[in-house]
Amino acid sequence: MRFSALKVFTQGLSGNKGWTPHWRDPEPKAEYDIILIGGGGHGLATAYYLAKNHGMKNIAVLEKGYIGGGNVGRNTTIVRANYFLPGNSEFYSHSLKLWEGLSSDLNYNVMFSQRGLINLFHSDGQRDAFARRGNAMVNQGDDAVLLDPDGVRKHLPYLDFDNGRFPIFGGLYHPRGGTARHDAVAWGYARGADQRGVDLIQNCEVTGIDIENGAVRGVQTSRGPIRAKKVAMVAAGRSGQVAAMAGMRLPVESHVLQAFVTEGLKPCIDHVVSFGMGHFYISQSDKGGLVFGGDLDFYASYGQRGNLPMKEHVMEAAMTLMPMIGKARVVRSWGGIMDMTPDGSPVIDTTDTDGLFVNCGWCYGGFKAVPASGYAYAHLIATGQPHETATGFRLDRFRTGVGLIDEEGTGSQHNLH
Ligand SMILES: Cc1cc2nc3c(=O)[nH]c(=O)nc-3n(C[C@H](O)[C@H](O)[C@H](O)COP(=O)(O)OP(=O)(O)OC[C@H]3O[C@@H](n4cnc5c(N)ncnc54)[C@H](O)[C@@H]3O)c2cc1C
Repeated sequence: MRFSALKVFTQGLSGNKGWTPHWRDPEPKAEYDIILIGGGGHGLATAYYLAKNHGMKNIAVLEKGYIGGGNVGRNTTIVRANYFLPGNSEFYSHSLKLWEGLSSDLNYNVMFSQRGLINLFHSDGQRDAFARRGNAMVNQGDDAVLLDPDGVRKHLPYLDFDNGRFPIFGGLYHPRGGTARHDAVAWGYARGADQRGVDLIQNCEVTGIDIENGAVRGVQTSRGPIRAKKVAMVAAGRSGQVAAMAGMRLPVESHVLQAFVTEGLKPCIDHVVSFGMGHFYISQSDKGGLVFGGDLDFYASYGQRGNLPMKEHVMEAAMTLMPMIGKARVVRSWGGIMDMTPDGSPVIDTTDTDGLFVNCGWCYGGFKAVPASGYAYAHLIATGQPHETATGFRLDRFRTGVGLIDEEGTGSQHNLH
């Protein structure tokens, strides 16, 4: 079923009884050409582009829970292309371009809203760093504007500009950045993949990866064994556990990241804003809730929930930057599991096992990467060659030390990225 204004209108007149499910609920087949382990944003996008760009159909996405139950439905929905280093910048630039056409490509409204992102700075040194970043963004072909305090004030008059400790010196404005409805992204890619013949199999946990003579043969699952010519791991926070099934030890640590949402309010924050001196960033959802987050919880865990000290830390930072937020009531908080690499950049690569591929390490920024990651991973799986936008995301950079993409310059400690 295709969506259109006419369809919505006619369905409205007929009691909305003609809508069909977004995707089928098939039984797993005995064998597939390609199995993707993980039905998050990256797995679903990969399946979609394998079918759409490479004409492949005999594909299964195996998801241990339900579509949208992982980080793809837990993030704070920010989309941006404001990376500094080659390796990252061309990749995220490609992703932003895919976002700009995504609703029409998927025939599904992902509610992509280019409301602009402002990264605030609070010292001369930070201004220099953001000016360099802005130049890199412009050189890459993306957009960036360096704002002085008055420029920021025009966009964000409600901030505490003259805070005694952290006065606002200005901001780096990225007008094409913004937000998207995260569930819709999962559902849109799932529907698009299903329409092209991909089997989306929920409640199907992969428990083992079968390897014979150095080549992958299939997987063991909670719903029985399934053979496959190629197996692609794309399990985000569980990447380390899934790769261990193939005898691999990935250079990732899994950490908790929390998010918060307030009761619905009238429109008051119409950008994405990020504090430069504390871990706090915020936007307002289309339902009116203020959606915000901060830093990792700082301990490795697979628990999808966070602890109180980080909540307190985020609330303090919020009150420092934006005292008006003290009047809003937080109604929900949750956590997700980040697979953090030692340089903070991801991996899209082949492995030492024939037919086995790895996609991981998206840290806390993998939502905006969903379109380009799916695009590049599909290219790698279908052709055996890295896509031109993702040649730097090699796994062996952590073994050799060559080609590290350390965007933040914080060294090799996973949870500092
Ligand atoms: C609080 C929070 C805020 C964030 N904010 C942002 C943001 O604003 N912008 C941004 O760009 N990024 C953000 N992120 C990061 C982003 O959400 C993730 O990097 C990205 O969603 C990870 O990729 P995914 O969607 O494929 O992951 P997931 O949705 O987690 O998909 C992985 C799937 O693999 C499945 N799986 C795991 N093990 C198995 C198995 N053995 N068998 C079968 N299936 C398995 C899981 O159930 C899961 O559904 C945030 C994350 C969190 C938690």
